[in-house]
Amino acid sequence: MSKIGFIGLGNMGGPMVKNLVEAGHSVAIYDIDDEATTRAVSYGGIAKSDAVGTIQNAETVITMLPAGEHVRSVYLENDNLIEHVNKHCLLIDCSTIDVSTAREVIALAKERDIEMIDAPVSGGVGGAEAATLTFMCGGTDSAFNKAQPLLQVMGKNIFHAGSAGSGQAAKVCNNLMLGIEMVAVSEGFVLADKLGLDKQKLWDIASTATSQCWAMTNYCPVPGPVPSSPANRDYKAGFTIAMMLKDLKLSQEAAKTNGAFTPLASLATDLYESFATNDKNEDLDFSSIIKLIENQ
Ligand code: NAD
Repeated sequence: MSKIGFIGLGNMGGPMVKNLVEAGHSVAIYDIDDEATTRAVSYGGIAKSDAVGTIQNAETVITMLPAGEHVRSVYLENDNLIEHVNKHCLLIDCSTIDVSTAREVIALAKERDIEMIDAPVSGGVGGAEAATLTFMCGGTDSAFNKAQPLLQVMGKNIFHAGSAGSGQAAKVCNNLMLGIEMVAVSEGFVLADKLGLDKQKLWDIASTATSQCWAMTNYCPVPGPVPSSPANRDYKAGFTIAMMLKDLKLSQEAAKTNGAFTPLASLATDLYESFATNDKNEDLDFSSIIKLIENQ
């Protein structure tokens, strides 16, 4: 059993805490949102009154926060964990954030001889609940090896992508491809409908043909062919339009900074952004982008 501090108890962080507690770890928790904290307490987390409270005696601190600004606030600014944390404590940031913030925070931790990895995840809330997340990690071999046993409690596929920030690099490229794929699958199904082709027939054929991809086989944006996909429950998220837009924007920042040509991701970003301008759409699952395609 190890002592863990866990900060950020939202849709992902909450069930991750549950799995850590069920594996026998002692987990001190903090979130600025009382409701999220209450839920994680019901899973066996020990509530602390601030982020610094979670790091007392912690061997590992895990963060699962919305974006780079929150990670910066917790590690470097408001809570300044990097200054307060014990030098033997391993830091694991599982949030999806920009590569440069991840590299900066890990470099500042290193200046204080503190080991840290970026470890964003894929697999969604279902994966967090079922402890089947994929972790994409960036950092030294030593930090990765220390993190692995805990990551295995929360996930199934644990990858060491490379040096600091490489986990975020893998995540941003993955979600760039996923965002485009969901638009592509939506276009195919909308055209099929206009051509009078049955959606189940298209799925039966395309899911075993060359356009096969996760967005179609696991998360089909039309109701019917994949009963577990959000399309069958009015696009209740899942992974929201707002989150996909956040990740596509990260991909566009990264492409600009590093001189990569990403014309389809640029167009996909515009499409998700235009759909998200209606507040009600922001919280829908990202597969609801098919509604924008259908309604043009
Ligand atoms: P969420 O908004 O449900 O949870 C984030 C939590 O962080 C909230 O409870 C919020 O109150 C808390 N928080 C914000 N600032 C804080 C601070 N300064 N101190 C303490 N707590 C703070 O988000 P989520 O769905 O759990 O996602 C978390 C991260 O995981 C995001 O970076 C997201 O992109 C990524 N992610 C999400 C999914 C998904 O399907 N939801 C999938 C893969 C990756």
